Amino acid sequence: MLLEDQGKRLFRDHGIRVPNGLTVTAVEQVHEVSGPVMVKALVPAGGRGKGGGVRRASGVAEARAAVAALLGAMVSGHTVRSVLVEEAVTIAREMYLSISIDRSLGVPALIASGSGGVDVEAADSSRLRRWPVHPFLGIREFHVRELTAALELEGRQRAVGDLLEKLWSVFVSLDCELVEVNPLILTATGELVAADAKIVINDDSLFRHPDLEVPEPGGDGIEAAARSEGIVFVPLEGDIGVIANGAGLTMATMDSLSARGGHTGAFMDLGGTDDPARVRRAFELMVASGQKVVLINIFGAMTKCDTVAQGLLNALSGLSNPPVTVVRLRGANEERAREMLLANGIVAHPELEDAIRDAVDREAET
Ligand code: GDP
Ligand code: MN
Repeated sequence: MLLEDQGKRLFRDHGIRVPNGLTVTAVEQVHEVSGPVMVKALVPAGGRGKGGGVRRASGVAEARAAVAALLGAMVSGHTVRSVLVEEAVTIAREMYLSISIDRSLGVPALIASGSGGVDVEAADSSRLRRWPVHPFLGIREFHVRELTAALELEGRQRAVGDLLEKLWSVFVSLDCELVEVNPLILTATGELVAADAKIVINDDSLFRHPDLEVPEPGGDGIEAAARSEGIVFVPLEGDIGVIANGAGLTMATMDSLSARGGHTGAFMDLGGTDDPARVRRAFELMVASGQKVVLINIFGAMTKCDTVAQGLLNALSGLSNPPVTVVRLRGANEERAREMLLANGIVAHPELEDAIRDAVDREAET
């Protein structure tokens, strides 16, 4: 996901109206403001409005105070490093408009609502209407007609058509998964202004847009730390942290846990590695995510079982209060790994069934 100021720059380049604004990274960069301004935390996540990341200010002093409060603060799981200061548009009405990929139809879809804003997700979903768009034909006359009605903008068909064409050109030219304008503002003077810009570009197309700096999506927590080491980490709701190698084995492990009444609290795909230090780091990150039980399920091939055992033992030796750890190992160097662990009081299960039962029992005990 791009930051709002990046998205708005792209909107502006495509002729879509956005409020005039300035991106700042320090309080001193706010010199003068004419009229009321919105001060908005630039983080690659939504929900900023509800999390205090969007503030209104009138005058330089207030704007500076808002910038000072936001810089360095956490908003939607991200540390704020830059802030957008822009003219506050006078709102007559907030609307919702987006283009995304409709996975069930396999084509892009327009979604619109005559009432948008921070509560749109909670709003009655019957107010959100959806129109498939043929990827080669793009915006058609009927889209314009029907969206004009859905947005309750009767008499403004030309302006709506113009906006749809421009949004569509952003969506196509940037290989987007999502282009969302929420709120799309109808101003007191009757103009359509994009007050927010949320653009998600398909990861696999980023090489076609080398000039775009796309911020990391995962926030500043364990996800980001894991990603920087090339480890996939996904937090969930339960108490058992699953570390496995390969996407298939990781999913199968979680399914087995769930079938036995266990609850995965986070999962980690170690990928292929022959480096005990990497295994140690992965385990430490999993422990830091606060799991009651850690279940390690490794099928040794490129990743050798003894590499994993060594990494685990190194990690455990550095922890004063280690979590309950359940291990299942199979494959390359299995015997050696089992001996190493046993010498340190850890029994490695050969069968997944046993490891799953063990992990679920331990989750229930704690
Ligand atoms: P989000 O919560 O992360 O999606 O942040 P938004 O950019 O959508 O801002 C949240 C809310 O702030 C919007 O729904 C508007 O109600 C309000 N807002 C944003 N920009 C403006 C603006 O230019 N003028 C006014 N009056 N309100 C704004
Ligand atoms: Mn928004």
